[in-house]
Amino acid sequence: MKYHHHQSLLDMVQSKLGWWSAETSSTKLQEGSTSGDGHVDSDLSDRDTPSCTPVRTSSVSRCGRCWLRWYNCFCTEYLNSRQAYYHDRWDEIQDQYQVEIEIVMFYHAAELGRSANTAHVFEHLCEGITKVIIYGDQEKEEELFKRIVDGSEGKLSRPEHTCLLYPCNESISLNQWIDNHFHYDSNQSDFSSSMRSTPGKRPLVRMIILDGTYPRAKHMMKFFKACKREFDLERNHHLDFVQLDLDLDKGIKSAVAGVMFQPAKDKICSYQATVMAIRQLLHLIEVRYKIINNSRNPLMENISPPIIFSGTQMCSELDEDLNNWIVYILQQKIKYGKPTPRKSLTDVDNQLPDHLKDVLVSCTIL
Ligand SMILES: [Zn+2]
Repeated sequence: MKYHHHQSLLDMVQSKLGWWSAETSSTKLQEGSTSGDGHVDSDLSDRDTPSCTPVRTSSVSRCGRCWLRWYNCFCTEYLNSRQAYYHDRWDEIQDQYQVEIEIVMFYHAAELGRSANTAHVFEHLCEGITKVIIYGDQEKEEELFKRIVDGSEGKLSRPEHTCLLYPCNESISLNQWIDNHFHYDSNQSDFSSSMRSTPGKRPLVRMIILDGTYPRAKHMMKFFKACKREFDLERNHHLDFVQLDLDLDKGIKSAVAGVMFQPAKDKICSYQATVMAIRQLLHLIEVRYKIINNSRNPLMENISPPIIFSGTQMCSELDEDLNNWIVYILQQKIKYGKPTPRKSLTDVDNQLPDHLKDVLVSCTIL
């Protein structure tokens, strides 16, 4: 082991997993335990169970997948069918864009089981492309770092490119990151090989998302900074920190405005940030494809037919699903809305959108 987490963090993870095990005793999490070497079994859901039917027993208090109380479970009513939908959609998208996408949700243990957590909703919907690691699970963390090195150095069957989404002084724009990692070659006859990938093997883009409160996310970011040195990830851009290309003067309207407080105008929930990053990533690939296609000699043989890209549409659907989940937790009175903005948040638009006001009114909350 190249590093050791502070014992207080490992204790906190164990305590949280123990609590979660008791809350969801029908899931695999009941087996979550320390193996004696600091390893934590951090599977957050039963991956072998395609659908979730909450079992009404005195020992099960929460659904292990949507994290809501069993009587509020959103899985069978909504999330499971959407998950099946996105499973097929992601296959199409990865074919269109000629990349594999992997999202690593890196959770702080304090987030585990929090009903208002949005990252796990994304994880549930896009289970096929999402991997989960709990901060403090040293075995999985080291596995990730090794994979990043091997994937970057061509030791795997396909190239892998990893970035961590976190705005800080060393973050580069996603646009710049794409330029650093993908060298599109207009002399190639098809888009896949124009990315100089191994023939028949699409490159993988792995994006790590830090999920926790802002101070905790910052703490986890510092851990990654330290591990970049420890695992030699700074070499050849093995692990870059990236940020979205945003107009910060305008700020971003948080998808959970008026439901949860947004602490600053550039800080949004993990679900929204992940979808924005995917949208931008796909858009950047699409733009490069169009440039290559336009620059080709029309007389050149074997030109592939233009690709129909539908990433933007899928991202809009994901945004809609986040909104549907917010409506649901308001209707179920899991959240009551925060119609009065905090005085300290003068530059943040925390107004509940009108359609959510209507939901609160219909639930007689307002
Ligand atoms: Zn559920």
